[in-house]
This record gives sequence, structure tokens and C-alpha cells, in this order.
Amino acid sequence: MIVEKLGTGTLDSPEGFEEAFVFMGTGLVCSGCGEPIVQSQWTYPALQRPLRMFRFHRWCARIWEVVGMLTPQQDQPAAR
Ligand SMILES: [Zn+2]
Repeated sequence: MIVEKLGTGTLDSPEGFEEAFVFMGTGLVCSGCGEPIVQSQWTYPALQRPLRMFRFHRWCARIWEVVGMLTPQQDQPAAR
């Protein structure tokens, strides 16, 4: 799911994002897997504009960091 999103550009690369802040889960959905976060969540504020915040489960954040750094970002999604 996360790998797919990174590949299609739905999810931005972790480059340019601050380190995670850890908050209590608020029931909002994870930016990675789309499941509600009910325990502690990791929130990533973007350093770059447009300002965005990502929320992840701890394990989803880890996957995002690792896979995102390995996945080349395309500026524009290629037309199918
Ligand atoms: Zn998740």
C-alpha cells in the first residue's frame, strides 16, 4: 500500500520532512495504510511548501522512510 502510493506519487517522498513528532492517536487515518490510528501516531510536518502533515502508524512511518528514500520521485505522473 505504502510502496504503491510512493510509486504513483500519491504519497510524497520523506525528503524535506522534519523528524516525527509523536502524538496520541486521534483516530485519524494513517497516510500510509489508510487505517485509523488509535494508539500513538507519528506526525510528520513538511518543511517545504505547500505545508502538509502526514500521520502514520509507527511501522508505516518506518516503511515510508525506508521505501521513500529508495523510490525515485516523478515530478509529473506519466500519462498512461
Ligand atoms: Zn498505517
